[in-house]
Amino acid sequence: MKTQDTPARHIAILGSTGSIGTQALEVVREHPGRFIVEVLTAGSNANLLIAQAHEFKPNAVAIADLAQLEKVKTALEPADIKVYGGNESIAQLVEMEAIDIVLTALVGFAGLAPTMRAIEAGKHIAIANKETLVVAGEIVTRVAQEKNVALLPVDSEHSAIFQCLSGEGHNPIEKIILTASGGPFRGFSAQQLASVTLEQALKHPNWSMGAKITVDSASMMNKGLEVIEAKWLFDLTVDQIDVVVHPQSIVHSCVQFQDGSIIAQLGLPDMKLPIQFALSYPHRLSNAFPRFDFTQHPQLTFEQPDTAVFRNLNLAYEAMATGGTAPCILNAANEVAVAAFLNKQLQFHQMSGVVEEALAGLAVEQKPSIETLHAIDAKARELATHTIQAVV
Ligand code: NAD
Ligand code: MG
Repeated sequence: MKTQDTPARHIAILGSTGSIGTQALEVVREHPGRFIVEVLTAGSNANLLIAQAHEFKPNAVAIADLAQLEKVKTALEPADIKVYGGNESIAQLVEMEAIDIVLTALVGFAGLAPTMRAIEAGKHIAIANKETLVVAGEIVTRVAQEKNVALLPVDSEHSAIFQCLSGEGHNPIEKIILTASGGPFRGFSAQQLASVTLEQALKHPNWSMGAKITVDSASMMNKGLEVIEAKWLFDLTVDQIDVVVHPQSIVHSCVQFQDGSIIAQLGLPDMKLPIQFALSYPHRLSNAFPRFDFTQHPQLTFEQPDTAVFRNLNLAYEAMATGGTAPCILNAANEVAVAAFLNKQLQFHQMSGVVEEALAGLAVEQKPSIETLHAIDAKARELATHTIQAVV
């Protein structure tokens, strides 16, 4: 990584129009001259992508949705910004010579291909797109190591653990403790969960995030995905990862060492902090973000997750223990289930069943290639779609 005396870090933001992407651009704005935006990409939000490009003057932009391509071209080509369309162009742009670090802030399995291409091209990765690690953690971490690429966590829990490990050299980890807010339905019974609405699920008590991760947080699948993400980022076994519910979201996660000492990282729930740390690592840049004050938060509480009501957490642990393609199946079925819930085609409490059916219905293959993962992802989506059609 470049050091403090290097004037600027050249970045690509994949998914710049989303929750993480827009907050990353706030971080860039907060530190003039520190970051140079080389590439911005979006799924389909042409208007925001155009506005961002006018402000941050990237070398190139890409939009996945080809129907929006002409609009973006018309707006940005006169400003001397290269414009591309389609998923393949996103994967190609990350290879650009000038880029030092790629922030993967797109959502879902769609992050896998461009993340792999960026790693292959030797770019450091600020990894927000947890689904990539869930699906292909073994390959992603191995190739990153081969290419000497840093995988810098953006997820707040993983950033916390990464920070707790700083300076610990090769001190073995006894276990990590991932904190979970518990989401809007913490304390609900199975019966109560059966009648929750989309609007309730989209109201997270502490964090403002994209729709998919907000639903995952309400269903505890987000924590399940994060358990698998942690396994790969920190090279842990299943029994080294604990989850504790901490409704205030101040303690972002902890590491317990072999002497029993626990180191935690704390702060207000603000994603700009972990985003900034990943982009500026190993440096901490000063900023004007609000500070945490202990006296304003006299109650920091901790409780067991309710895995009987929120089955997703155990499903993720089981998929992780099975390994191979199991987490890919879990992720694909969950993406389909969440999309159906967001479209009001499926009820909240029915999502876990869709994931269970997919895990039960598909054979697991160990040591899959990227091609196999793409095939399994497609199969699991098909199966999940059928399950949903049968349910509704
Ligand atoms: P979001 O839905 O707000 O934004 C997603 C971005 O990706 C948008 O720019 C969208 O245009 C783009 N995109 C979506 N589908 C795409 C596709 N098929 N191809 C190309 N681009 C596509 O999502 P988000 O909340 O910012 O989350 C992004 C990632 O970061 C997710 O993997 C999420 O789990 C992770 N994450 C988010 C938060 C958070 O606070 N939002 C916290 C931790 C981790
Ligand atoms: Mg998180």
